[in-house]
Amino acid sequence: MSDDTPSSILHRVFGYEHFRGHQATVIQHILTGGDALVLMPTGGGKSICYQIPSLLRKGVGVVVSPLIALMQDQVDALLQLGIRAAFLNSTQDSAQTRAIVQQLRQNTLDLLYVAPERLNNPRFLDFLETLPLALFAIDEAHCVSQWGHDFRPDYARLSILHERFPSIPRIALTATADMPTRREIISRLGLENAHVFVTGFDRPNIRYHIIQKQSPARKQLLTFLNTEHRGDAGIVYCLSRKKVEETAEFLTVNGRTALPYHAGLSHDIRQHHQNRFLREEGIIIVATIAFGMGIDKPNVRFVAHLDLPKSLEAYYQETGRAGRDGLPANAWLAYGLEDVILLRKLLNSSEADEQHKRLEQQKLEALLGYCETTNCRRQVLLAYFGDELAEPCGNCDACLEPAATYDGLQIAQKALSCIYRTGQRFGVNYLIEVLQGKSIERILQNGHHHLTTYGIGADLNTDQWRSVFRQLVAGGFAGVDIEGHGGLFLTEKARPLLRGEISIRLRKDTPRAPTDKKLTRT
Ligand code: ADP
Ligand code: ZN
Repeated sequence: MSDDTPSSILHRVFGYEHFRGHQATVIQHILTGGDALVLMPTGGGKSICYQIPSLLRKGVGVVVSPLIALMQDQVDALLQLGIRAAFLNSTQDSAQTRAIVQQLRQNTLDLLYVAPERLNNPRFLDFLETLPLALFAIDEAHCVSQWGHDFRPDYARLSILHERFPSIPRIALTATADMPTRREIISRLGLENAHVFVTGFDRPNIRYHIIQKQSPARKQLLTFLNTEHRGDAGIVYCLSRKKVEETAEFLTVNGRTALPYHAGLSHDIRQHHQNRFLREEGIIIVATIAFGMGIDKPNVRFVAHLDLPKSLEAYYQETGRAGRDGLPANAWLAYGLEDVILLRKLLNSSEADEQHKRLEQQKLEALLGYCETTNCRRQVLLAYFGDELAEPCGNCDACLEPAATYDGLQIAQKALSCIYRTGQRFGVNYLIEVLQGKSIERILQNGHHHLTTYGIGADLNTDQWRSVFRQLVAGGFAGVDIEGHGGLFLTEKARPLLRGEISIRLRKDTPRAPTDKKLTRT
């Protein structure tokens, strides 16, 4: 195959016209002997990035894959294309294994898929050293992450590849692209010199919007569904089972077919609801995060969150279930002060070790940053994954209806000094009542009507103050007491603000998302 090029193989062997995203660059990089970390969403076309170099380079390409069940399928598909592929895993008997070893010795394989534990077997490594090797591909590389769901101890030991085979290029691939996971992959696999390629995370047909939660937020949800999604299928995510049940019932009473889905329901009921969602038109599933994995319904027109997702990755995955057919779809999130307080409290009370806590903290800041941003949401979201979007997208709330901001220094100072003067132990509702100068018993008992901050915020209504406090807590100027009362205290970050050494712009919240710019379907 000496005259072959990546393009000719793409056409002749795979039957595709063009490379997608960074495929061509990644392949070129591997061909010249470089290491790579490739981040692409599922279905983005990662496999070709190591398959084509394996065909072009001398020797066999060794692919580490954690999913034994998928190896067979992948190998079958490659054989169909005329590629000489095989796998080695624990499901085979010794005759099968011997046959493959024989093929390897004769140098008649292009690709060999192996389970990670195989590469921690010294005898197998010795054997590999006797063979010409094209490359190592480490698929599902996020399995090295101790904090992830898919942690595989055998993955963590794969740095051995670099030590034993320093001249063989390695390519790690994953769809999990957040920075902490990425850093962990790089350090655990010894990929410090690898080139990082990120593409394909944008879902341009999904319109992102976030509205300020009013209680109960399900009324806002209903308004949104009635104006934009009459008769459409979609998913509504809530944090608790109880809220799932209540919301499903509320939507049903209001004329929609809404079915609950959570881990407290029997397997049969869950299956039944899922099947109806897949087969019938216009079904709404109200679910905890237990719903959605492996669900492939192309015409989900909206994904709504009544509570904050766990992280930006979770948000990206959950909203990503909308609009798989490429037609316009909405990702709608109701977000409010209580969410911020809850998450800050959870983080503070976390019993994880320091390193893990720092990671949780980073993830939370990223999520809150996304919710509070006045810049293009898609740019913020993609930047989190390291996938750049050069221009504002024009298809998110921030682009369609830019949020007004105002100089918030004085107001922030009032809020923060009220926290300070009342002793850094009261919750937001109380603080707002002091600021507004309410003469309620609790305030009088505490003598807080004598404070200089008493009544200095009477010009703002409660919603406006809640918006200010939310932004201050989200921005990390105030922390939340973990003892359960939700008392606010000042953080280091509050000082320069109180002293007026920095400025702060606050967002003017509007209770409703832009509804005049409906999705247009062409
Ligand atoms: P991933 O591993 O990233 O989930 P795959 O490598 O399985 O994705 O590719 C997803 C699908 O896209 C496969 O059907 C694959 O054949 C197809 N595909 C990959 N690259 C191209 C391309 N350049 N042109 C057309 N189809 C492609
Ligand atoms: Zn935008």
